[in-house]
Amino acid sequence: MSPVLDPIQRRKTLPVAVGPITIGGGAPIVVQSMTNTDTGDIESTVRQIAELARAGSELVRITVNHESAAKAVPVIRDALAVQGCEVPLVGDFHFNGHRLLADYPECAEALAKYRINPGNVGKGEKKDSQFATMIELACRYDRPVRIGVNGGSLDQEVVVRLMDENARAAQPKSAERIMHEAMVESAISSAERAVQIGLPRDHIILSCKMSGVQELISVYRMLADRGDFALHLGLTEAGMGSKGIVASTAALAVLLQEGIGDTIRVSLTPAPGEARTREVQVAQEILQSMGFRSFAPMVTACPGCGRTTSDTFQHLAQNIQAYLRDQMPDWRNRYPGVERMQVAVMGCVVNGPGESKNANIGISLPGSGERPSAPVYVDGEKVATLKGEGIADQFKRMVDDYIETHYGAQSRG
Ligand code: SF4
Repeated sequence: MSPVLDPIQRRKTLPVAVGPITIGGGAPIVVQSMTNTDTGDIESTVRQIAELARAGSELVRITVNHESAAKAVPVIRDALAVQGCEVPLVGDFHFNGHRLLADYPECAEALAKYRINPGNVGKGEKKDSQFATMIELACRYDRPVRIGVNGGSLDQEVVVRLMDENARAAQPKSAERIMHEAMVESAISSAERAVQIGLPRDHIILSCKMSGVQELISVYRMLADRGDFALHLGLTEAGMGSKGIVASTAALAVLLQEGIGDTIRVSLTPAPGEARTREVQVAQEILQSMGFRSFAPMVTACPGCGRTTSDTFQHLAQNIQAYLRDQMPDWRNRYPGVERMQVAVMGCVVNGPGESKNANIGISLPGSGERPSAPVYVDGEKVATLKGEGIADQFKRMVDDYIETHYGAQSRG
């Protein structure tokens, strides 16, 4: 039995509607991702958005960095609709965003949300007017905006002002602390300016992304203390492979545990040839392993030890996990609730039966020196002992049967 834990108190934020998806206001934490194709390459971008959405990304961001990208956005939206893919698209704008949004109204209409980086909308006087134009267009099209501050492109005017004030203070703070305050100040002052221009507060999401784990945690704690805007969490430039996954998880887990965060993105650098959908899987696994949401059946597997002298058990755990995840795009509608199913694949009978009894269905493979048989438990009861070469296939069939009988149409009457 899992221990009964106190539910995490989520910070109260304003709900923001992004197409049919709600971010904040107590809604389930939303998983989002971003393409890495040239948005002007319509075919590649449509393909990748569809893959990300199929993997479970509930919003997909695309860069809108030049005219060909702006022209492509409505075409991409239509091509996705033809495929039955309605995932809301978020446009990522920078220094020319005001012009692209004004010149390409079909682009502005096709996007469900605009992302604006206040450190990247222009310099000097132009900065204010270009930011204002983007907000006015968001008001005109009734679109929410993410004001996304980034440590690598922080508004230098805010930094200089806070550094000057700090230099005159009786007890100056560290330069690092001032940088963090500048991030938060840039986000909050930009949001307040957007409100003055006319954008409702429940059309604003804030983010302050940094690439260091401790810095990110520090900045988001400050940001969360400064109001009730919905927050987008993400460690920027997290990196590749296990480094990117571990750093993102470490940062996001601390903040989520404190109730901070309404939507997350895991910014992984894919290895050459690696699927972009990996970042969606990692985001889902962070939320599922922390108990916030369920996306796919979870496989509990022991680490193996000297009792597992063959790799049969590792192959079975890997294959079952991959099989269950791969089926989820189809199973989501066909087998409601299957995403909460627990499967155990254990390496021997020492801890295997105990873990198997706690799962919906579990198997203990024979360890070294044990009889070549594998007991299977279903809902806490031993129902079969599998033997021979085909144990993996037999177990997979039993998993399929369990899903059909417990989550299929028949089980719902
Ligand atoms: S369940 Fe068995 S094989 Fe797995 S770690 Fe424990 S003792 Fe080792």
